[in-house]
Amino acid sequence: MTGAAGGPAVTPLHGVRNGVALSGRAGFDYLIVGAGFAGSVLAERLARGLGKRVLLIDRRPHIGGNAYDHYDDHGVLIHRYGPHIFHTNSTQVAEYLSRFTRWRPYEHKVLAHVDQQLVPIPINRRTVNTLYGLELDEAGVAAFLAGRAEPVADIRTSEDVVVGAVGRELYEKFFRGYTRKQWGLDPSQLDKAVTSRVPTRTNDDDRYFGDSFQNMPLHGYTRMFENMLDHPNIKIMLNTDYREVQREVRYDNLIFTGPVDEYFDYRYGKLPYRSLKFRHEMVDQERFQPVAVVNYPAEDVPYTRITEYKHLTGQQHPRTSLTYEFPSAEGDPYYPVPKPENAELYRKYQALADATPNVHFVGRLATYRYYNMDQVVAQALKLFDRILHAETGGRSL
Ligand code: FAD
Ligand code: UDP
Repeated sequence: MTGAAGGPAVTPLHGVRNGVALSGRAGFDYLIVGAGFAGSVLAERLARGLGKRVLLIDRRPHIGGNAYDHYDDHGVLIHRYGPHIFHTNSTQVAEYLSRFTRWRPYEHKVLAHVDQQLVPIPINRRTVNTLYGLELDEAGVAAFLAGRAEPVADIRTSEDVVVGAVGRELYEKFFRGYTRKQWGLDPSQLDKAVTSRVPTRTNDDDRYFGDSFQNMPLHGYTRMFENMLDHPNIKIMLNTDYREVQREVRYDNLIFTGPVDEYFDYRYGKLPYRSLKFRHEMVDQERFQPVAVVNYPAEDVPYTRITEYKHLTGQQHPRTSLTYEFPSAEGDPYYPVPKPENAELYRKYQALADATPNVHFVGRLATYRYYNMDQVVAQALKLFDRILHAETGGRSL
């Protein structure tokens, strides 16, 4: 096991540190499993906000969880686990993260490769006019889509959402193939929440997200995490699985941000997660594609999208680096799969989690929710507030 800087594994602290008495015995106040957004926000808050002594572990060789970024062999900043674009409507979340990073203004644009052309997704006025050779104004596009939309009495699935908004032809061009590849399921088998993430527009707004705050961390996510975790009460152990240290480390409370079914040894069976294989490539040219992400909905193309990072980071470099995403049933758990039977199975694990004293489950994998980064930060801050309240009885410190 190595420490954060690749040094030897840390040993538990003894005595009093920063004026904080140990809670009755030597060890940590909190063991936090997972150094992604959920684990890191809680480590920061517990250490800086409550003076707790925290051991943060991750089985990967780095902090940042899926948001981890790093310079590749050619010196281009890339995201190891696919494109991570920060956006939020929460002032609280934006203000909190702004303590640890400055920001680079960036509004995400995505094009889809459809009918041999690159057109905006979310579908907007330009998408319709380009694909159909029209020159409709906003009202014209609204009427065009309304004329094609199929009435769906009870919108339940990811197919219903799109067919009900734009009709079957555009659904098939943009959503059906992409979704089948991404999830290994037909949109009709997936909860409506999945394709509802992508709006339909009749104007020229070609931003992927509509949020009020859209910025990228100026020096990247990993730097932001380093700043967050830079506190004497936080010890970090990487390349360390919870199972390896569970009995060796003494701690009073556990925060678990890994897969909830794994924590309970798959007692009720495995919760389905979708995985991805990433192919990272360097191209010996300054630019590869016009925007950061191009989606490939056609089913005969094995990947779902190509990301070119320099658009996200603003980095100047004579070469450029790309990531192709190939959806996969095997591999690291990246996406909880939103469908009713999975939600049902999760509820059984949730009941176990609720009945486990001194253990908090938080984050995308531990609460089996298809959450964006800002939602995970908000969830972690909320848990911290509950802990704070329980410790102080509502009194301010
Ligand atoms: P994670 O980041 O998964 O962190 C959990 C950590 O726990 C991992 O590092 C894991 O190694 C560790 N761990 C698990 N089990 C154990 C164990 N037993 N022992 C030790 N360590 C363990 N969100 C956005 O807002 N915008 C985006 O553009 C965006 N793009 C995405 C693209 C992809 C391809 C993916 C997969 C996700 C994307 N997300 C995006 C979602 C974002 O990644 C998550 O919301 C966020 O990173 C979740 O943080 P987390 O801490 O809950 O989980
Ligand atoms: N989607 C699609 N075609 C697209 C973009 C998205 O079918 O061009 C569907 C697909 O099911 C995807 C979901 O909408 O999984 C949510 O898209 P999002 O871009 O939010 O996915 P993420 O970035 O989380 O992978």
